[in-house]
Amino acid sequence: MIRFLLVFCLALSTATNSFAQWFKREEPIMGTRVYVELWWQNEARANELMQQVMDEMERINQLMSPYKTRSELSAINRLASEQAVPVSAELLRLIQTSVRYSDVSDGAFDITFASLGSEYDYRNKIKPTESQRKKAAALINYRDMVLLPADNSVRFRKKGMRIDLGGIAKGYAVDNAIAILQAAGVESAIVTAGGDSRILGDHRGRPWLLGIHNPRGDGQVLKLPLEDVSISTSGDYERYFEADGVRYHHIIDPHKGASPSELMSASVLTDKSIDADALSTTLFVLGTDKALKLANSQPGVSAILIDRTGKVYYSSDLVDPAMQ
Ligand code: AMP
Ligand code: MG
Repeated sequence: MIRFLLVFCLALSTATNSFAQWFKREEPIMGTRVYVELWWQNEARANELMQQVMDEMERINQLMSPYKTRSELSAINRLASEQAVPVSAELLRLIQTSVRYSDVSDGAFDITFASLGSEYDYRNKIKPTESQRKKAAALINYRDMVLLPADNSVRFRKKGMRIDLGGIAKGYAVDNAIAILQAAGVESAIVTAGGDSRILGDHRGRPWLLGIHNPRGDGQVLKLPLEDVSISTSGDYERYFEADGVRYHHIIDPHKGASPSELMSASVLTDKSIDADALSTTLFVLGTDKALKLANSQPGVSAILIDRTGKVYYSSDLVDPAMQ
């Protein structure tokens, strides 16, 4: 009888604990807001999973932040002009993926943009002098970054070169987070790091509704019903300051050595967040025509661009809602 009671009580306690529901958590990591929401039947396990997501984000931050002196990325920036710097296979792989995007975009995506990008402090409205800008811009060229996969190391051909993975690392981290949730059996979730989101499954029988921000105001320009997809937006409103009528923002056109001004935002939808992230930054740099051409040439990639007049452009696989 006692055993029966015990089993009954246990069953009751799991029953009260096992109402499947949405669990969510938000934390500031990687200089941005990381958000996870997942559908699960047990609070303790849901908390554990959300913690694993945050831990993975923090692990990648420690590895790849240019602001942490002990990160692998900082070691590259400090030493690679002098010697080949050994790095983890993981970091090397991400750098190789970045190079692939440099190749497909004719250098619009280029992590050596940081040779110049690191001269700006957007929060404190600091920019290089014209001669500093020119000198640093001349150091941007991913082909001067030598990858030595045989001994997992990286070397720069020119002194003063720097790299920064800010245009791709968040997407990579989001993919890793989703992989953790998938492996644990989660079927419905969203993970967001700043402008990079990936959706796993749907919103319990309905799509998720995600918005594309109005680049010059509150609210959203568009709402998109989404499931099982990644979406990334790159915008000129994230980190910027204005001086002498020029908007200095965190995306840099490697060929011009300046922030592009044709678009206010570029959004990309595709399976993996790493691709959406790298491509949204790439399209932003390319500007309307070249961006649409590149998006249309990539299978499984959709793009939504907003130019500086507020006009919205869609890749050829999407239907313009105004035309319906
Ligand atoms: P996102 O918000 O993903 O577009 O990323 C913007 C970030 O990408 C910036 O904060 C920089 O860290 C980085 N970035 C800026 N310009 C470039 C570029 N031309 N190629 C690659 N990364 C860039
Ligand atoms: Mg990006």
